[in-house]
This record gives sequence, C-alpha cells and structure tokens, in this order.
Amino acid sequence: MFISDRVPALDLDAVETPCFVIDLGALTSNLELLRQVQQAAGCKILLALKGFAAFPTFGLVRQYLPGVTSSSPHEARLGRAEFGGEVHVCAPAYSDADFDELLTLCDHAVFNSFSQWQRLRPRYDRHRAAGGRPLEFGIRLNPEHREVDVELYDPCGACSRLGVTREQFRPDLLDGISGLHFHNLCELGSDALERTLAVVEAKFGEFLGRMKWINMGGGHHITRPDYDVERLVRIVRAFRERWGVEVYLEPGEAIALGTGVLVARVLDVVRNGMEIAILDTSATAHMPDVLEMPYRPEIVGAGLPGERAHTVRLGGLTCLAGDVIGDYSFDRPLQVGDTLVFRDMAHYTMVKTSTFNGVRTPSIATWDPAVRRLQVHRRFVYGDYASRLG
Ligand SMILES: *Cc1c(COP(=O)(O)O)cnc(C)c1O
Repeated sequence: MFISDRVPALDLDAVETPCFVIDLGALTSNLELLRQVQQAAGCKILLALKGFAAFPTFGLVRQYLPGVTSSSPHEARLGRAEFGGEVHVCAPAYSDADFDELLTLCDHAVFNSFSQWQRLRPRYDRHRAAGGRPLEFGIRLNPEHREVDVELYDPCGACSRLGVTREQFRPDLLDGISGLHFHNLCELGSDALERTLAVVEAKFGEFLGRMKWINMGGGHHITRPDYDVERLVRIVRAFRERWGVEVYLEPGEAIALGTGVLVARVLDVVRNGMEIAILDTSATAHMPDVLEMPYRPEIVGAGLPGERAHTVRLGGLTCLAGDVIGDYSFDRPLQVGDTLVFRDMAHYTMVKTSTFNGVRTPSIATWDPAVRRLQVHRRFVYGDYASRLG
C-alpha cells in the first residue's frame, strides 16, 4: 500500500535521508474516495490543515475538496492563500487581535463558548460596518459522549475545555449563530459517528432545525480500508434530510492516511543489553506522536521483537533518553548505512516536527507514480533552525 510495496522500482537507497516522501498516487486515491463520499452523502469535506499541510500537495487536494479548516490565523492565511475555497476556523479561544485577523481570512468561525461569542461579536459588527467580508458563526458543542479511549485525544473527557455542554448552552444567545459544531472522534469508524449523532440529537435536537449547517468535526477514518463508508453516507444523508441542514466533515488524518513514508538511515550500531541502532531521525523531533500517543510505527521489512532473526532497538538522534522508536526484528543484522522506511508518516508528522537539539528536519519529497518521478521540494537548513530562536 505504501511506496516501497507499490513501487519496488523506486530506489529508496538513493533517497537522501531523513526524508518524508509523499506518494501522490496514494493521495489521489484517498481524495477520489472523499469526492465519492461528498457526492453520495451530499456533504462537504474540508481538509484540517493541522493534520496535513504540504505545499506540493495543495494543488491536488484543491481539485477534490471545497476548502480547509484551520486552528489559527496562520493556518487560515495558508488556507486562503493556497486553496481559494472555503476557510473555516475552530479554536479553544481567540484573542482580540487574532479574531480581527481571522475576520479578514475566514468564511466560518466556530466559538468554543458563548462567552467568546458575546465578547467578540461587537468586533464583527464593526468589521461589517467598515465593509468587511461577511462570515457565518457556529458554536462548538460538547455532547459529553465518549468514543476515544486515549485521554489525551478525547475532547469529551471529564472536565474537558472543548465545547459547550448542554447545561451551559444558551438558547438566548443564538441570534447570529448559523451552525453547530462538534468534534469527539479520533481515528474512528462511522459507527462511532452514528452513536454520537444519536446523543447530539437527544441533547441538542431542539436547536438543530434552526441551523443552516452542522459541522461534524474530524476523526473520521474514512480512507482506512475497513471503514464503513456506506454507513457514513447513509447517516449523513438521513441527518441532512431530517434537519434540513448542510453537513460539513473536517478530517485531517483521513486525507493523508497511508500516503507517505519517512525514510531514514542507520548511523551507528551499539550494544547495551541488546543491539541498538542509532538513526538519522528522531521520535521526539520528527514523529512525536510515537511518544505522545504513544504508538509503534510500522517499518517495511521489519517484524515484532523476536519475530525475525535479529532484534534491534531503534533510537533517535537527540539527547533525550526516551528518544526511542521501539524494538523491531530484521532478517539480518542492521548495518551502518542501511535504509529504513517508516510507514504512514504523512499526517501529524511534517506539521509537528521540531528542531530540538538542532537536529535537521527531514526533507520533503513527492513520488509521482504516473511519471515515476521522485522530487525533493524542501531541504531544511541552518536558517530554518536559527530563525525560531529569537
Ligand atoms: C483535530 C481536529 C480535526 C481533524 O481531526 P483528524 O483526527 O485529523 O481527522 C478536525 N476538527 C477539529 C475541531 C479538530 O480539533
């Protein structure tokens, strides 16, 4: 499913490392599916820029999706500049200055509380009085319905700051609000959305019919092979028709799922109780979700510890003792210069890298299977590191 499986002829040993390689063929397949969902369900799917944003892919994504959702003025500006479609924003709070900037960039803005809506509305009135662009506003709901097991990623956990609970909901402040938003999923199926919708309808049903649109957030793993796409289409269609609203979905991960790899090399092999390879990449700086989530990335040609003849711990370049990707086994001992390919590294990687320890950020390349071309678009240099230090 990934580059090296689909395209064995791509000479990965020739790829400079560390490097993210985005497979434009795999990305196109995902986008084709998302287009079918939009057509069949009659909804709009936006790219959540926080999950996946890469300049060489914007032109392609734009052909399939009507816009983006952002979390900040910088993302909104990127969306406005690179997409030209709808730009939405949703964040836990907006400062006055950020909100004023967002008013010049966005089509929809979602408030995390009624107090933010009340506080910032006069700024929108002034913006309009001065001839500024019209926007539509929504309120983020907290349906208090839990589907995510990992606390770090559960917007509906105990005492969550995200969204307005039914108890805090203010029907008296709905004037000027044209949509409702909820986001309580993470890497989940359409069954989880179906259960969530039942709760949203039970708790907030009396307000749904008054709205123009409902935004069902992200976390829909639509492009995962076992995702029940038919169920998604069925429930979104039914919801739309039942309430007479437009529906938005705003996944990040689903756009880029399975579309890229991180290629790295072995720099050294040491021993301390076991064999340990030091790579020219880093868990903490290049794939922080490995430590945050945490999860074990797949590596092409590697197995679980003990599964193949040689078990090795893979460690990163930084000083952090815990900068360890995990223990893997290979058919032969790893040697200096060996190339390793980490699967599924397009989403929540390029957008999350840091320059901790000054380690070089992986280059960003695309593989175009149609013309069999690997193109490096970006190499990171000293200035990229230095410019963030003040
Ligand atoms: C993170 C987030 C998304 C995108 O989530 P994915 O898991 O990448 O699909 C969409 N909307 C909101 C409000 C989010 O916080």
